[in-house]
Amino acid sequence: MYQAAAHRYATMPYNRVGDSGLKLSAIGLGLWNNFGSVDALANQRAMLHQAFDLGITYFDLANNYGPAPGSAERNFGRIMAQDFRPYRDEMVIASKAGYVMWPGPYGNWGSRKSIIASANQSLARTGLEYFDIFYSHRPDPHTAVEETALALDQLVRQGKTLYVGISNYSGAQTAAITAIFKDLRTPFIIHQPRYNMFNRDVETDLFPVLKREHKAAVGFSSLSQGLLTDKYRYGIPVTSRAHKQTIPFLNSTQVEQTLATVQKLTAVATKRGQSLAQMALAWNLRVPEVASVLIGASRPEQIVANVQALNHPDFTTAELTTIDKILAQ
Ligand code: NDP
Repeated sequence: MYQAAAHRYATMPYNRVGDSGLKLSAIGLGLWNNFGSVDALANQRAMLHQAFDLGITYFDLANNYGPAPGSAERNFGRIMAQDFRPYRDEMVIASKAGYVMWPGPYGNWGSRKSIIASANQSLARTGLEYFDIFYSHRPDPHTAVEETALALDQLVRQGKTLYVGISNYSGAQTAAITAIFKDLRTPFIIHQPRYNMFNRDVETDLFPVLKREHKAAVGFSSLSQGLLTDKYRYGIPVTSRAHKQTIPFLNSTQVEQTLATVQKLTAVATKRGQSLAQMALAWNLRVPEVASVLIGASRPEQIVANVQALNHPDFTTAELTTIDKILAQ
C-alpha cells in the first residue's frame, strides 16, 4: 500500500497559473513516453510515487500517449486506482485531444465531435471523474476556432474538466482563441508549448501574448527529449530515447548535431554547481510566464536529479549572456 511521503510539500515551489487561482508544481511529470503498454508497470509506479513524494502535483497525459496509444492513460488509471485515490484532490491531472487516436474522420484534430468523444474516452481509460485541465493538443486548420473553443467550454460545463488549455498554438492563434474564451467566460488558463534551450521561438511569438492576456505556459520537452543532459556525451546508450525503437521521435543525427553545444553548456552548468539537465530546467523557469516545466523520465533517479534544479534557480546576467552566446553559435 503506497503511503505518500510526509514531507512532500517541504521544498517544491508552486507557481500561480496566470491570473487563475490554480497553482502548479514548478516541475510537472509528463507521461508521453515510458508509461505505455511496452513499458514495465512497476517502473511507472515507482516514477509516479517518486514524483509525488517530491512535491510534483502536475501529471500530464494525452489520449495518444503510450505506445500503444491510450495505454499511458490506462496505466495511469490502474496506478491511480491502486495507490493515489486518497490523494486525488492533491493532484492536477491533465489530458489532451487533437492528434490521431482512432480510425476514420473523427479520431483526430479539433471538431466538437472529436474533442468530446476523445475526452469521454480519456475519462474512461483513466477511471477519473474529471480532468483538472483538458487541452486542445494542436490547432485544427480545417475547423473554425469557435467550434474547438465551444467544445472545450462544454467539457467544463459538463464537469468533465475544471480548466482548459491549448497546446502548440502560435501567438496569433492564441490571441484569437483567447478572445472567444473571454466571451464564453471559459476558464482557459494555460498554454503548453515546446520550450527549451534549443527551441526558443515562443519567446518572441507566444510569451508576449501570454503576458498580455495574463495566461501561463507549461513548457514541454524541457530537456529537448534528453539532449540537454550529459547522457549522450560518450555515445548513445542502449537504454536511451535516441536508441529505443519504441520511441521514434529522437535519433542519432539530432544527438550528433547538438553535441558541441551541449559540451559548452555543460561547462557553464558545472561552474554553477549543477548538471546540464538541472541548469536547463532552471533556465526555462526564469521566464515569468512559465509556471511549470514538464519533464519526461525513464527512471525514478532522473526525477530526483531534475527536481534538484530548483535548489539553484537564479542566473547572473553574465551567465545568461554566456548561454545566449553559446546557443547563437
Ligand atoms: P524531456 O525533454 O524532459 O525529455 C525526457 C527524457 O530525457 C527522458 O525520457 C530521459 O530519456 C531523459 N532525461 C530526463 N531527465 C534526465 C536526466 N536527469 N539525466 C539524463 N537523462 C534524462 O521531456 P519529453 O520530451 O519527454 O516531454 C515531457 C512531457 O511534455 C511529455 O511527457 C508530455 O507530457 C509533454 N509533451 C507535450 C507535447 C505536446 O504537443 N503538447 C509534445 C511532447 C511532450 P531516456 O529515456 O533517454 O532516459
